[in-house]
Amino acid sequence: MKKQTIPQISEQIAAPLTAIASPQRIAILLAIGTGEACVCHLETALGWRQAYISQHLMALRKADILQDRREGRYVFYRLKHASLLDLITASARLSGLSAETVSALINTRVNPSCECPQCSPALISVESLKAA
Ligand SMILES: [Zn+2]
Repeated sequence: MKKQTIPQISEQIAAPLTAIASPQRIAILLAIGTGEACVCHLETALGWRQAYISQHLMALRKADILQDRREGRYVFYRLKHASLLDLITASARLSGLSAETVSALINTRVNPSCECPQCSPALISVESLKAA
């Protein structure tokens, strides 16, 4: 196997960094955290339009940062490598934030004002009973 040069290896290392290097993409990754999230959850968590979020989700999926799973009419996104959160935490510390500030955001799983299947399972089951 041919030995890779520093520029070649650097290009490969930069690919995931470039893919996540925007406040919007980092916000989406933090909102997904260690679990999984649908677009409607991200809409509530971030306060952005669905089309705008979807655009970033597509780019992150294309860059192999996210993987998705369909369940009924919902698509759930999760981080392909949870270690990306460590990278984000390390970057947060460079910006003067504490690791606790970041982990508190990551661990906020359920949002009371969110109506996604994970935050409001009861609501969704009532809805599916009506549909049946
Ligand atoms: Zn939710």
